[in-house]
Amino acid sequence: MSRKKVFESLIADNVARIASDLEKAEDFNTSILASHVIEAIKKVGSNLHTTKDGVLFCYFCNKGPFTKKGYYLHLMRSHYQDLIDSVVEESERIASSSKDVEFL
Ligand SMILES: [Zn+2]
Repeated sequence: MSRKKVFESLIADNVARIASDLEKAEDFNTSILASHVIEAIKKVGSNLHTTKDGVLFCYFCNKGPFTKKGYYLHLMRSHYQDLIDSVVEESERIASSSKDVEFL
């Protein structure tokens, strides 16, 4: 896998974990990714955690209900690129509003 692909799979996996509540956003940290990317993963992951009456539904296509594991797998299978695009967009927004810019 290329370096870019490794980063992308790391991003998608962690966003999907946070979105499905398998991992808490506040517990997520890694030395591999830049701080603004980590911040973007936490923010996008929390945004994608969408529930109706306490049950998980998909943020992107409104399918559901899902178990935590089911939502994680659905996001990774059906919305892999959406996850990455959302995080890249958010991290660029965060980076452009911050002075110490470092990209992926
Ligand atoms: Zn979906």
